[in-house]
Amino acid sequence: MKFQTPTGMHDILETDLVYFRKIENVCESMARFYDFKEIRTPILEDTQIFEKGTGQTSDIVEKEMYSFKTKGGDSLTVRPEGTPGIVRAYIQHGMQNIPKPVNMWYMGPFFRHERPQAGRYRQFHQFGFESLGVEDPVIDVLIIQIFYNILQSLGFKNLIIELNSIGCAQCRPYFKKSLTSYLRSRSASLCADCKSRMKKNPLRILDCKQEKCQMIKSSAPQVLDSLCSGCHDHFKSLLEFLDELDLPYSLNPYLVRGLDYYTRTVFEIMEETDDGKQQGSLIGGGRYDDLIKTLGGKPTPGCGAAAGVERIANLMKQRQKKAPTETTQSVFVAQVGELAKKKSLKLLEDCRRVNLPVGHTLHKNSLSSQLRVADQQNATYVLILGQKEALENKVIIREMKTGKQSIVPLESAAKEVKKKIK
Ligand code: AMP
Repeated sequence: MKFQTPTGMHDILETDLVYFRKIENVCESMARFYDFKEIRTPILEDTQIFEKGTGQTSDIVEKEMYSFKTKGGDSLTVRPEGTPGIVRAYIQHGMQNIPKPVNMWYMGPFFRHERPQAGRYRQFHQFGFESLGVEDPVIDVLIIQIFYNILQSLGFKNLIIELNSIGCAQCRPYFKKSLTSYLRSRSASLCADCKSRMKKNPLRILDCKQEKCQMIKSSAPQVLDSLCSGCHDHFKSLLEFLDELDLPYSLNPYLVRGLDYYTRTVFEIMEETDDGKQQGSLIGGGRYDDLIKTLGGKPTPGCGAAAGVERIANLMKQRQKKAPTETTQSVFVAQVGELAKKKSLKLLEDCRRVNLPVGHTLHKNSLSSQLRVADQQNATYVLILGQKEALENKVIIREMKTGKQSIVPLESAAKEVKKKIK
């Protein structure tokens, strides 16, 4: 029997992990600058936080969750997205009592039982930034700016921010009503999915990619025309902030995002190719001013977004001829003879203690083959322990470029070479 990874799940090997680490490092430095604290929530959460938060009519809850009953009778779900878990943590740890906004970021695995296709996995990774406690659109702009910066730092160009406001609990019902009455007379021409969305969540019809529905939605009423004054002003000042920062955006009246908790701002960031076509979204997010209350907290606004790590990593890999370079070992330890092999083990430990990364091939016995590896690894210095040196407790430090050598006592070799490479 040959075991394989389950459908839609994959091993992440070193060739991809270099991109994952690069993404994580960029997120970390962005988080430090904008003062977002990392949070790690459990992979399993109470199923209800997704049913109530993400929403019964979302694709995620309707079709894609891995949910099960534990032996103790609890209903748990393997997390399909990050925001509800973070809101749960915010409420559980009394974060409403600390100064606002409470800014958090995360990166980790998520699980959705999707139809396997290129770039869509059942286990994938996302990073996200969430800011809880402030209603001011300046927060929406900061979230957009952070994600824009991250993508730019990772080498993405021609980025475009697609933007919409889907209103709030006051004004959205009016829009839903006018949209439904527009769609009712045309419902026979909608795709099968949209026919069922008519009753459950007509806004999602605007998001439909089926050709049948494109024509119908192109003359549908637009949500921006039915915003209440609060939502209208919020959106207007968001656009002013974006103009001020020279961030490239375009209004997309069909952008509604698939999750029930969004209020007001929704956005996606994508890349425009040279011929002006847009690829799938890299980032998706928005404001969720009712979610904290829905999950049992005090009414508190919030805003955040998430990005797919695999998607970003795959694009980086396709485009970059060279993988990102990580700290390389610029020093190599080589040895000849049994005694030298034993002593070089201790030398490795000396190097580790002074925080000096070293390469080695201790299983090899021939000096020339060890030097070849050192050369392939672009080592600047090689520490050579020959038979004579091992007997005398000495080490040769060889500068690879010039071939210049010096001999130092074994016990100070690590410190000596560390001084040289500074
Ligand atoms: P969402 O949480 O659905 O708004 O998605 C945010 C980002 O996560 C998307 O832009 C995708 O890049 C990524 N993503 C979502 N679902 C998957 C999946 N099943 N496999 C890989 N990436 C995904």
